[in-house]
Amino acid sequence: MIVKSSEFTTSAVYESQYPTDGLDEIALAGRSNVGKSSLINTLLKRKNLARTSSSPGKTQTLNFYKVNGDFYLVDVPGYGYAKVSKKQREEFGQMIQDYLETRAYLKGLIILIDGRHAPTDDDIAMFDYAQYLKLPILVVATKMDKVKKNAFNKTYSAFNKALGLSKLDNVDFLCFSSVDKLHVDELGKWIDDRLQE
Ligand code: GDP
Repeated sequence: MIVKSSEFTTSAVYESQYPTDGLDEIALAGRSNVGKSSLINTLLKRKNLARTSSSPGKTQTLNFYKVNGDFYLVDVPGYGYAKVSKKQREEFGQMIQDYLETRAYLKGLIILIDGRHAPTDDDIAMFDYAQYLKLPILVVATKMDKVKKNAFNKTYSAFNKALGLSKLDNVDFLCFSSVDKLHVDELGKWIDDRLQE
């Protein structure tokens, strides 16, 4: 993917607020602080398009970024909030489900998981839920600049053990770092391939 233009288009909670121009969409989900904003900025070669923030649970809407006038990247709010109420959590959960389960333009889901550790219960729950959606999935291990190259296999093994990646046809896996710009092209290619399917 060659990114020529990118813009923040809209935030949405309800379906009536989703874009209406009929472009395909690729969604990104992950726990707060996993590096999702950084990945979006890195992929789109923008410094501050998606706000990076160290305060977990800040983004509470679906955020739509139009890329090359051609498709949307959809930033899905982080799951696993520590600092919000149960009611707020339920509302976010509903918003996420409404979007992921009904959006016909959605062509793929990227699930970000911190590559420095084994997937958490929240990560596993999100992944299991995503299986039920029957979408193409890319599992991205983030912050891999913090993992030694010769331990990348160990990261994959831990992810495979927790998620059963190798048994699933609809799931791909990628190590990523926004700091080192690791596998940015591969990420773009995965998205291109989903948009062409
Ligand atoms: P989000 O909450 O998922 O959007 O996460 P952010 O992109 O805001 O990043 C959360 C924190 O992790 C910030 O302090 C980032 O600087 C840091 N971070 C994000 N990506 C990377 C990465 O690839 N490597 C390292 N070492 N830190 C990262």
